Order: sequence, then C-alpha cells, then structure tokens
Amino acid sequence: MNIALSIAYLVASVCFILGLKLLSSPTTARRGNIYGALGMLIAVIATLTDRQIVDFTYIIVGLIIGGGIGLLMAVRVEMTSMPQMVGLLNGFGGGASTLVAFAEYIRLSGSADLTVWQAGPINLDVLITLVFGLLIGTVTFTGSGVAFAKLQGIMKSAPVLFSFQKQLNLLILVASLILGGLFVVDPSQWYLLLIIIGLSAILGVTSVIPIGGADMPVVISLLNSYSGLAAAMTGFILSNNVLIIAGTLVGTSGIILTQIMCTAMNRSLANVLFAGVGADYEASEETAEQRTVIRYTPEDTAYMLENAQSVIIIPGYGLAVAQAQHILHEVTKLLMERGISVRYAIHPVAGRMPGHMNVLLAEANVPYDLLLEMDQINDDFQNTDISLIIGANDVVNPAARYKKSSPLYGMPILNADKARTVMVCKRSLNPGFAGEDNELFYDKKTMMVFGDAKATLTNLAHLLKK
Ligand code: NDP
Repeated sequence: MNIALSIAYLVASVCFILGLKLLSSPTTARRGNIYGALGMLIAVIATLTDRQIVDFTYIIVGLIIGGGIGLLMAVRVEMTSMPQMVGLLNGFGGGASTLVAFAEYIRLSGSADLTVWQAGPINLDVLITLVFGLLIGTVTFTGSGVAFAKLQGIMKSAPVLFSFQKQLNLLILVASLILGGLFVVDPSQWYLLLIIIGLSAILGVTSVIPIGGADMPVVISLLNSYSGLAAAMTGFILSNNVLIIAGTLVGTSGIILTQIMCTAMNRSLANVLFAGVGADYEASEETAEQRTVIRYTPEDTAYMLENAQSVIIIPGYGLAVAQAQHILHEVTKLLMERGISVRYAIHPVAGRMPGHMNVLLAEANVPYDLLLEMDQINDDFQNTDISLIIGANDVVNPAARYKKSSPLYGMPILNADKARTVMVCKRSLNPGFAGEDNELFYDKKTMMVFGDAKATLTNLAHLLKK
C-alpha cells in the first residue's frame, strides 16, 4: 500500500474516532457528525484513487442513483420513523458486505465461470473471513428487513413464536458453520457459499421474528453492530485497513449501545433475543372502558401549574408525533419566569430511537442542563409538585414494576406516580407502544388533559401569558 493512501486512511480513521467521541454529548454531537462524514469522504476518495479502476461509469451511476435515493430518504423521513430508516441502512450495509465478499471470491477464483476453478491457493484468513462476512452480512440484511417491517407496521410487531424455534436457529447456525468449514478446506466448492447465504438469510428472519416491537431498539442497535462486523470482515478480505477500522468501530459501539439499552430496560441481551416477551399479550380494553379517570381542562391545568413550585416534564413519543417541542419550551419558559423549578426527565427509550427526546428538545433549543437522565432525577419525583407527562406512556407505566405478564415487566420507569400530582397530556386512554394499559391514568391524583399535545400546550401557553 502506498504511503499517501496509508496516511489518508489514518486521517479518516482519526476522524471516525473523534466523531464518535464528540457524539457522546448533545452539545458536541453535530460536530461529531461532521467529523464522521469528513472521514468517510476522505476514505472514499482515497480508495477511488488507489484501486486500478478502468472505468468509472458504473461507480458514477451507482453514486448518483444510491446517493440520490439516500438524500431523498434522509430529507423526507419523519423523526418518528428514524428507527426504521436506521434499520434499513443497517440492512443495506450488511447486504453490501455480502455482495462485496462474493464478488471478491469470484475475482480470487480467477474466472467468472465458477465451475472452472483457475485460482491458486487462497490464504486461510481470507477464506475464513469470507465465510463469516457472508454469514453476518446476510443475517444483518434479512434481520434488518424484518425489523424494518415490524417498525413500519408492514408486519405485526408482536413476537412470532413456534415450537423448537431456538433449536432451529441453532441448527441453521451450526449447519452454516460446518458448510463454511468444508468450503475453507476446498474453496472451489462455490455452491457451499450460496447455501450459506441462503441459510443465513433464513437465520436473519427466524432470529428477529420472535422479538417483540418494544424490544426493536435493542435489535436495531445489535444489527447495527453486526453490519459493522460484516464490514470489518470485508475489510480483511480486501486488505483494506480503513474498512477494518470503521467496521470495528461500528461493531463495538453498536454492542456498547445494545448493552446500555439492555441495562436501561433491566433485561439481559439473551432475554431480549430469546424470551419472546409480549407474545399472547393483549391490552385490556375492558379495563379502560369500565374505569373512570379525572379529566381536566387546559384552564384547570394552567391554574395548577401556576401554583406549583416544582414541575418535572416527561416527554414521550406523542410529543414527537405532535411536533410540540417548540411550544413545550415556550411553556417551560413561562413557568420558569414565575419562579417555578422546571426540569425534564428523559427515559432512555422514550420515543422511538435512542436519544430521540434529546434530539427533539435540542431542536427547540431547550437548555441541556434542564434535561436529566432517569437515574439523575428518579429520586426527586417524591419531592415534586407536578409530573407533567406529554405524550409519554410506557416509560411511566407502573405495570413495568409488578405485572409479570406485561411486555414492559422489569423495565425501569420514571417515578412520575410519586409526584404530588400527575398530569397526563394525550389524546385518549389508548395504550403506548407495548400495548399495555396504564394504571397511572386511573390514579386519583392523576389529571388527564385530553387532546393533541401541540394544541393543549398552545392553549396552556396562551393561558399562562394572561
Ligand atoms: P409510547 O409509545 O408508550 O406512548 C406514546 C403516547 O403518545 C401514546 O400512548 C399516545 O396516546 C400519545 N400520543 C400520540 N400522538 C399524540 C399526540 N399527537 N398528542 C398527544 N399524545 C399523543 O411512548 P413512550 O415514549 O412513553 O415509550 C416509548 C416506547 O417505544 C417504549 O415502549 C419503548 O420501548 C418503545 N421504543 C423505543 C425506542 C427507542 O429507542 N426509544 C425504539 C422503538 C420502540 P394517544 O393515542 O392516546 O394520544
């Protein structure tokens, strides 16, 4: 490898590492993104100038079509659909690794006609990484497809379970590894690679369908990690250092995020992947209809808020749907002007993607020091006058504490119910993402303020200005 290329790859890798470091805080995250994108640009340009490319036509056509579709998707995607988009991109990453690995095999075999084996000996490390690259890349491709379909509502989000499911998955994995071993012994058996790809495609589907929609954030993060590993494997096959480094960074950061999310939900990764949580569970509509709630008008709500000394706001997915972050900030400022202590409690899985609420509130320029993580604020609810819940549901659902049959069971929740008064702004008594009815709505200290979050908050802001 020439020295200029090595330096370019080194600079790109440093950009990736700096970018990741900066992404760890909301204040520096934008800069982090720019570093990451710059690193990728350097890596792509360096690679294009290094390879002995005879014709750029296909590359340019691919760039225009792929870049155009990517740009359109990124511009048009709703913030609430971002997890699906990330899932889809992970899948494409895995699929690309599979295609590149197979194309490299064709190149190494010396002929486009695979039945005619013309290659000399191929290094063992290349053969092993080829098998793993194809396996992980394909699992990521189909697994991400299922995750996308579940989040997009194309497939039902409840776990799909059948007898001997885990055993079947294990069998497919072991069979793929055995076939991979046979291929390494005799790399002219190209058809083994096709069988491995087929089996991995099935494995991707069968390992994601038993996972419920509420656990999808963890799965998306895990698949993100897989797509990084697949890219790193491809890097070994192509002897491309920057691909190895970037892939490893994605692989490790994805697994760290997965671990953080499992901790936030108080579940082990094995429990998320294999427990089929949420199966056979149906929300009890009967309960919702039979019991009564206390309804409040925005006027009553404004009056109560004005007379409070401390308020903790709990934003959730509904805030993002209503796009009410700006008006919420406005209400916050109005309350703070009256000397009321206002803080935000951010649950790690509030919304539909990791950090969703932080991004949403940053968009409205809510100061970062008002945003507190669950661990930082959960003990303060008991000394707080009002928990103001805006479009959140699962993250404050007490069923997570005691109801073993609930898909939420075991997930740490925000202690909204411990405040002196609880106010819930949402449109109806409908359950949240996990489909679990929420006891909190029927509590005698809970005031339900029904309506779209933006309309309710606009009303509140108007009343507080009087
Ligand atoms: P939930 O999905 O539990 O609840 C959101 C609530 O918002 C709904 O009950 C809905 O009630 C209400 N809502 C919807 N639109 C509006 C609107 N326009 N105005 C007012 N309210 C509205 O949200 P949470 O944030 O509490 O919980 C997140 C859930 O999503 C968790 O189960 C989590 O595991 C899961 N998840 C999280 C991901 C992440 O990474 N953060 C990714 C994928 C899933 P109504 O219809 O009555 O208005």
